[in-house]
Amino acid sequence: MTQLTTDDLIGIRRHLHEHPELAMHEVTTHQYLLTIIQQFKQDYLEIRELPDLPTALLVYVRGSQPKRTIGYRTDIDALPVTEETGLPFASQNPGVMHACGHDIHMTVALGVLNWFSEHQPEDNLVFFFQPAEESENGGKVAYEQGVFKGKWRPDEFYGLHDNPNLPAGAIGCRMGTLFAGTTEVNVDLIGKSGHAAYPQDANDMVVAAAEFIGQVQTIVSRSVNPIEGGVITFGKLDAGTIRNVIAGKARIEGTIRGLTQKMIEHIVDRLKQVANGVATSYDAKVDIEFNQGGYLPVENNDELTKRFIDFAKQDPQTQFVETQPAMTGEDFGYLLSKIPGTMFWLGVDSSSPLHSATLNPKESAIGKGVNSIVRFLRFRQGESVS
Ligand SMILES: [Zn+2]
Ligand SMILES: [Zn+2]
Repeated sequence: MTQLTTDDLIGIRRHLHEHPELAMHEVTTHQYLLTIIQQFKQDYLEIRELPDLPTALLVYVRGSQPKRTIGYRTDIDALPVTEETGLPFASQNPGVMHACGHDIHMTVALGVLNWFSEHQPEDNLVFFFQPAEESENGGKVAYEQGVFKGKWRPDEFYGLHDNPNLPAGAIGCRMGTLFAGTTEVNVDLIGKSGHAAYPQDANDMVVAAAEFIGQVQTIVSRSVNPIEGGVITFGKLDAGTIRNVIAGKARIEGTIRGLTQKMIEHIVDRLKQVANGVATSYDAKVDIEFNQGGYLPVENNDELTKRFIDFAKQDPQTQFVETQPAMTGEDFGYLLSKIPGTMFWLGVDSSSPLHSATLNPKESAIGKGVNSIVRFLRFRQGESVS
């Protein structure tokens, strides 16, 4: 196999779509990617496997006159969703689906890598096929294992996510944050249960929980700059056992979203203050815990992102759309907190949203995406792309 055609890429995408695997279990996906890459011209390539992260794959492309090393990341995992597209190449793995479009991400990455395996770049390139984006923080795990050391450390990192709301093949981006950061929060309120008829002998945590939830609503409305934005949602509340017993305990579970890590920390601080206040005024014990396994915001680097957007705007072969930030999370935020870079969207024009059982990205996005990214990477290396 030399240069992959658009039809080859669509065939690869369909194979990947048929065989989705969950986070950290991307065994056949890994093997398939490896088999494809091994068929590329190997002159400039070095393939690296990771014993401690066995479903990941890295590929180094040796530049001819490197000024820097440019990283490109794709995620490879799927979701626990039962596919309902009815497509002839629908998932053959029951209950698992590429419902976030990571099959498209991988295919575009292979297309870009294939191009540079045929046309040696000036700069070095590092391609990272990353497991476990949807859960288990694959990017963070790789970083903490020391994967990006020495020649494998990119000076700058790029990655994309598909976007059903943009025209197929369009590139979307913005300065600042592309995806929000997320932190999970659990609140346990502990008082004293008792007979419904004797409130004076009990300490009612249903009332305390109601007060807590009510007060929390003022954090976003009164403590957050309205043009910066933040979200606190409590999606789960558990308290009590039966109608005529006062509940001595309540547990509230929620999620915090913010466009910057500073905003999330601000919301976390206010939540702690509200919890302390409710604890004092209700004479209750209030334990509040924050899950550090949340995602950092995807904060685009100013200089690199301005260059990326300027290129996309003026490139005659790229359709560029300026986008809003998304309040969903993406684990590329962790890598971008360590290595400057840019995350952007690739439009796939689907009437169904990401994570839905009927997501059906338009495959015409693949060839256009590969073309725009190859052109950007050539431009970034100083080539004049016309
Ligand atoms: Zn997803
Ligand atoms: Zn995704």
